[in-house]
Amino acid sequence: MIKAHKIRLNPTPEQEVYLMKAAGTARYAYNWAVAQWRQAEGKKPTARVLKKRFNAEKPEWVYEVTKCAAEGAFTDFGRAVTNFYEQRAGEPQFKKRSRGVFKFKLNNDKFDVSGYFVKIPILGLVNMAEKLRFEGKIMGAVVTREADWWYISITVEMPDHKTLPPAGACGVDVGLVRLATLSDGTTFENVRPLRHLLDTLATLQRVFARKQPGSKNRAKLKVKIARLHQRIRNIRNDILHKLTTWIADHYGFVIIEDLHVKGLTQNHCLALSLADAALGRLLDLLESKVIRTNGQLVKVDRFFPSSKRCAHCGHKREDLMLAERVFVCPECGFTADRDHNAAMNIFQEGWRLTFDQCPSGNGYDGRKTPPQTGYNLDKRGKYGDILPMPSGFCFPER
Ligand SMILES: [Zn+2]
Repeated sequence: MIKAHKIRLNPTPEQEVYLMKAAGTARYAYNWAVAQWRQAEGKKPTARVLKKRFNAEKPEWVYEVTKCAAEGAFTDFGRAVTNFYEQRAGEPQFKKRSRGVFKFKLNNDKFDVSGYFVKIPILGLVNMAEKLRFEGKIMGAVVTREADWWYISITVEMPDHKTLPPAGACGVDVGLVRLATLSDGTTFENVRPLRHLLDTLATLQRVFARKQPGSKNRAKLKVKIARLHQRIRNIRNDILHKLTTWIADHYGFVIIEDLHVKGLTQNHCLALSLADAALGRLLDLLESKVIRTNGQLVKVDRFFPSSKRCAHCGHKREDLMLAERVFVCPECGFTADRDHNAAMNIFQEGWRLTFDQCPSGNGYDGRKTPPQTGYNLDKRGKYGDILPMPSGFCFPER
């Protein structure tokens, strides 16, 4: 299992100059490769060929920083070209300094980590805000600048533990109003960081627009805005990681809806909240974490009418409105929270697809005790609240 730990660096002003130089060298090498690649007539040269050519004719100042900086740029370029040929991305583009791409790689044999320090070639010891959390074989590192701070992300290979997956099973409905609802009734409210901090952001951006181009105050404000964006990102990532880890720790059999997130974001009314909730990322994280605990993740077709179907009798309500938060079945009278009903349907459908039979409940509760405290991450959102189970449902025997 490969894990990455991103740690903030505390470089001295002199060290920062080196980091800037190394990132500049990486950008120069990358752009050099893009230029050569575009100019080439007929068959395009590979990243390897270009790297050789670069090493033969590179300028003197490239030697001022670690050679990993230029090397890593060619690795990135090679990947960009592969992505282009396999039609996952467009042509490799130039990286602009003004876009704030400051990044370089370090090979595993070119740096050492000990305690609160990382040793970088030519530069020496740089202070880290935290110790490296993972023990194992160090695979490499990437140094980046984000919102005027420097970070090192160290990838470590850790031994796989062959453990039994958690005993629980559940269906998960993700949404905009409530981030996630499990088929056994556990709910995770959405903390919408973007909405809350958006006003602050708008104000800052208005002030920023009035500042003289090239002035010191404008530069300061730019950092402030970048940090606010980073804060929003951090809050969002924190929620997504805690939520997905919790689910993966308690449920070894997880069923989700295969959402078409890209298609949804094109709808502008929904786009903001969707980007805010980052549902696609939630599902990706959940998938990787469930697999990591040796569990199984099943995807239900996105056209399966999870919201419209009654989880009790199967009646399909074509007239269900988006605003209806409570599902009431006209056939059998079953009443449930809208998202809870959807989660139960997802669970039933996933179970049917996997085992070719209907489940006798709505998820095995893998928890010894329900999370009474839950994840109360923020005053604005409560995590791990439990909905009452609908009558007529019981957990099946295992
Ligand atoms: Zn019904």
